[in-house]
Amino acid sequence: GKEEQEGEEYLFKIVLIGDSAVGKSNLLSRFARNEFDNNSKATIGVEFQTQVVEIDGKEVKAQIWDTAGQERFRAVTSAYYRGAVGALVVYDITRRSSFDSIKRWLEELTTHCDTTVARMLVGNKCDLENIRDVSIEEGRSLAEEEGLFFMETSALESTNVQTAFEIVIREIYSNIS
Ligand code: GDP
Ligand code: MG
Repeated sequence: GKEEQEGEEYLFKIVLIGDSAVGKSNLLSRFARNEFDNNSKATIGVEFQTQVVEIDGKEVKAQIWDTAGQERFRAVTSAYYRGAVGALVVYDITRRSSFDSIKRWLEELTTHCDTTVARMLVGNKCDLENIRDVSIEEGRSLAEEEGLFFMETSALESTNVQTAFEIVIREIYSNIS
């Protein structure tokens, strides 16, 4: 069994992946700081943000990594993936090409991570229903096919953002305990 120590700490590395402009940085700023930035540019320098979540009375630190825009050049490095135990794989429900890229992102994740990675497929920008380009059924079915959790989110309206991260964090926790 697992030893129950006082002050035991959990640190989970979670990566955000997906095409440029799908809303990765805004999902993270919504989750970590409850902020949304309409003009968010690729911020160079900030590698990750740490958010503390309590699970089963234990303090869990989620270290969530965001790209600095390098996904635009398909040059996300292996250092980015190293040690990741969770991933949010994000597309934009108003941009089909970003959905079509999901398989490539999943392959990249598999290539770089050897351990079990808790994975959530995220269809972001669900506030833009009027210009939707990918149906919720398509998202759900891809997730089922690939064995991923699935959720549509809006970083703008705060829909399901907390939930999406927490499901991944709980899954990682249950994978190790
Ligand atoms: P990233 O390149 O994947 O990190 O995407 P960003 O977080 O920089 O967002 C790209 C653009 O999409 C920005 O103009 C954001 O304001 C916008 N955006 C991000 N999330 C949402 C959302 O949930 N709804 C809407 N309507 N726009 C969003
Ligand atoms: Mg970004």
